[in-house]
Amino acid sequence: MFNEQHLHFFEQIKTPFYYYDLDLLKKTITAIRTESERYNYHVHYALKANTDKKILQELMLAGFGADCVSGNEVKCALNNGFANNKVVFAGVGKSDDEINFALSNDIFCFNCESIQELEVVNALAGNLNTKARIALRINPNVNANTHKYITTGLEENKFGINPYEFDTILEKLKHCPNLQLIGLHFHIGSQITDLTPFKNLCTRVNEIQAWFNQKGHHLENINVGGGLGVNYKEPDTELIPDFAAYFKIFNDFLELRPGQQVHFELGRAIVAQCGNLISKVLYIKNGINTNFAILDAGMTELIRPALYQAYHKIENLSKKNNITKVARYDVVGPICESSDCFGKAVYLPETHRGDVFVIRTAGAYGEVMTSQYNLRKKNKAVYSDELK
Ligand SMILES: *Cc1c(COP(=O)(O)O)cnc(C)c1O
Repeated sequence: MFNEQHLHFFEQIKTPFYYYDLDLLKKTITAIRTESERYNYHVHYALKANTDKKILQELMLAGFGADCVSGNEVKCALNNGFANNKVVFAGVGKSDDEINFALSNDIFCFNCESIQELEVVNALAGNLNTKARIALRINPNVNANTHKYITTGLEENKFGINPYEFDTILEKLKHCPNLQLIGLHFHIGSQITDLTPFKNLCTRVNEIQAWFNQKGHHLENINVGGGLGVNYKEPDTELIPDFAAYFKIFNDFLELRPGQQVHFELGRAIVAQCGNLISKVLYIKNGINTNFAILDAGMTELIRPALYQAYHKIENLSKKNNITKVARYDVVGPICESSDCFGKAVYLPETHRGDVFVIRTAGAYGEVMTSQYNLRKKNKAVYSDELK
């Protein structure tokens, strides 16, 4: 994907920085639209994956809704032109201020995660003389087979309402005149690459939906969340995830009632591959068993490896066509933490100070998680349309 032209361009820019390929983003959006429109599915973009302005602009223009998990994300979605009737607000710990803000902007739906939250949203909506549309975020107890820190749909996780609470919830809703139950919401985890968990989710949704129907509740909206994974190991072989297979699973296995609308909340699958962290080698240091390539980017720019042992493909762009000599490196950052390491024992072309490194597939949960630890400064993003 990266060539000489990129190298010359990157060499002129102060590193580290995020580089976004807007053409790839557009192609990804087209693939999602083609495959989801087949079934009239609604796609929301999970803002927490990346809130870069140009990226938000593309997604808003594509007609996607916004999936938000904080009041500021709701604000960000609205400020960037997303229609309020396409904004959903999830999260286990919504504060009163955040709820009030979302209520006064008449968002499409609150995905409520606990009985107490229902009481609070009802009371706050009452104060504002309005009605809140809500969906119950349900913990379906489906194993996403992903890293434990990004699994959300198991009973032991903090997210969602458990089926043993359903009776209490329906009883509670009878006494909540300012809530309108419009749907069920699920989200089982992230970076799910095998489609079986999604098939299992459909089965659970069918069972849960049947329970609600039998209690006399017809639910207009089924929101199955996000979580579709991307190829971190070999990004170039799969720059665009297999959206056809993904949406087809839901079409094959979800049992819908007449008129029911299906919603998705994709984050990573939309933006991960279009983003890359560009860095330069500051020093090479010889260790006992391995050499260290010390970059000018660290966990402050991309925390995923330190936070959940995530793998990112690392490339030495300066030596891309010069791989006669290969050596083994621990690729690390400058931050004062031992976990500040992008990759251990990585085989790379022999590397020197000043070489340009690309850390691939960094568009999701990368720039949004940057921190100013060690008083690092926040860097500007660079886009493919600036390439010269
Ligand atoms: C994070 C999140 C998503 C998006 O997850 P991805 O794995 O990035 O697709 C969707 N819905 C909710 C409720 C989330 O918290």
